[in-house]
Amino acid sequence: MRRTILTVLGTRPEAIKLFPLLHALAADPRCESRLCVTGQHGAMVDAVLAQAGIVPDRACGPVPPGLSVDALTALMLVRVGAALDAERPDWVVLQGDTATALAGALAAHGRQIPIAHVEAGLRSGDPRQPWPEEWNRKAIAALATLHCAPTRRAADALLAEAVAPGAIHVTGNTVVDALRWTTARLAREPALGGRMAALERRFAGLHIVAVTAHRRENWGKGVDGIATAIEALAARGDLGLIVPLHPNPAVRGPLQRRLAGLASVALVEPLDYPDFTRLLSVARLILTDSGGVQEEAPALGTPVLVLRDTTERPEGLVAGTARLVGTDPARIVAEAARLLDDPAAHRAMARAHNPYGDGQAAARIAALLLDVAL
Ligand code: UDP
Repeated sequence: MRRTILTVLGTRPEAIKLFPLLHALAADPRCESRLCVTGQHGAMVDAVLAQAGIVPDRACGPVPPGLSVDALTALMLVRVGAALDAERPDWVVLQGDTATALAGALAAHGRQIPIAHVEAGLRSGDPRQPWPEEWNRKAIAALATLHCAPTRRAADALLAEAVAPGAIHVTGNTVVDALRWTTARLAREPALGGRMAALERRFAGLHIVAVTAHRRENWGKGVDGIATAIEALAARGDLGLIVPLHPNPAVRGPLQRRLAGLASVALVEPLDYPDFTRLLSVARLILTDSGGVQEEAPALGTPVLVLRDTTERPEGLVAGTARLVGTDPARIVAEAARLLDDPAAHRAMARAHNPYGDGQAAARIAALLLDVAL
């Protein structure tokens, strides 16, 4: 019997990390692949899906701005519950640690629908960082039937929480699949990277530094520290700093107030994924508090300074392509200067390396969804 597989996603990182799986499922005649988009990130998700050629089967409207975590989770729960009642799938596929994923797990559990958790087992060990995502991921693990761990370390974290060994599979992270697909497409259709091409012309002759920040733990003092570091780096005169602004007012507001008008800083709206992958590959250095960017940068061989105190993705640190630097401006500037001014230090970090996957994760996960006994 053909299996019906309902993928539920709501945020930009979920869309990026699930489009390769949606491609793999769509190509397999043994299943009926359905997609529900919860609206958590609105237009940023529509842009990722459009560039991947994917049309959702169910698209919920946008989320009202300024919702609390409670209200957002409650809204996602109602939306996913309605989708599950209408679709009655054999599997629900959820990704990562978002409000959409947590609500999806609760709704599926309430209806006894098996959950496949993509990117399972990431742990910082600190329930406050990333907040609330660390706990979301643990809660989803407690309810899932199939755990697709991106790395051996993630699988070990699940084993340590007494998840049944037979339910855990090391698949690699689908972000590497997404990056490869997009990089190949950019090579065929360079016009897709048009916004970055314009920024590269603006900063011709300078080293490009990519900066992103959005984490809740960094709101307030952390974002202030990051802005101070950007000001100091801008004053060097040899850098073009490109800062795609997250739509959340808690981060974009302070960054705009502090950095607008600096000639060597480009504050830009979120870049479409092809433009953003081009930014990561041309950058001399990346400063970020993002989870996904920590996984993408090593695959491109671009050094990353992680603007956080802990990470649930230590594989990049172990591989030597990422360093944790926190949000103290003096530390960020000193670590950045070391990489910018010492070619040997830069070379040591700039080895392309794929601790997070080999680009075949989506095919492995699709096979599991079809093969695992239900
Ligand atoms: N990204 C993007 N455009 C941007 C900034 C980020 O396409 O302007 C992508 C990035 O490549 C990564 C994902 O968005 O795959 C990360 O999103 P974010 O940092 O918002 O979330 P996190 O990964 O921390 O959950």
